[in-house]
Amino acid sequence: MSELNQQMIEQYRTRFLQEVEANVEEGEWVKMCMQCGVCSGSCPLGKHWAHPPQEIFMMIRAGKREEVLTSDSMWMCTSCYNCIVRCPRGLPITHIMHGLATYAKRLGLAPKNQPTAKFAQLFWDNLVKKGRVNELKLGLSLYFMNGFGEGIKVAMKQQAIGLGMLRTKRMNPMEVVGGHAVKDLDGFHKMIRKAQELEDARIKQNAG
Ligand code: SF4
Ligand code: SF4
Repeated sequence: MSELNQQMIEQYRTRFLQEVEANVEEGEWVKMCMQCGVCSGSCPLGKHWAHPPQEIFMMIRAGKREEVLTSDSMWMCTSCYNCIVRCPRGLPITHIMHGLATYAKRLGLAPKNQPTAKFAQLFWDNLVKKGRVNELKLGLSLYFMNGFGEGIKVAMKQQAIGLGMLRTKRMNPMEVVGGHAVKDLDGFHKMIRKAQELEDARIKQNAG
């Protein structure tokens, strides 16, 4: 169990709603849910989730910390915003879903091998190196994210698309040995470090 997770369990004990309000983006809205179910009924994928949004809000209020934070439901949110435009209480449901996923990841509780979580990490690692996404490297990382054998199979399957992109100059093979960076790469890295410091300080303050 991560140190931060242990710290949060001790700090909030049975008060999971308060933990969400203090630590999850837009978490202070959860108590406004009136359980009408419109969000779950409007979510194009909700019926395939273990816990659609309305159920997640009910579980938070019922203190089901572990079930919520280890769930892969919020990782399935596609940000289509259907729920937000229909919620009679105006809850920013999409942002809460992403906030819960981010918080679960920070605590080390995100489900292992969840594809969205893996993609998000690959995207971040790729972006943060040069300040812009290297699409060729990101594509290759995605192909090979489940191992070498699987990567070769996917690459073979997608080769027509790849060759088409090369032919139409939508992809530059030289990007594999470096890639473009933003003009002020040092400044970009400083900005990321500062944002990380501020986020760490915010977490520490909430935990303190
Ligand atoms: S639509 Fe809004 S009020 Fe209704 S269950 Fe969903 S979040 Fe709650
Ligand atoms: S934004 Fe997410 S939770 Fe809301 S309807 Fe779309 S997929 Fe479902």
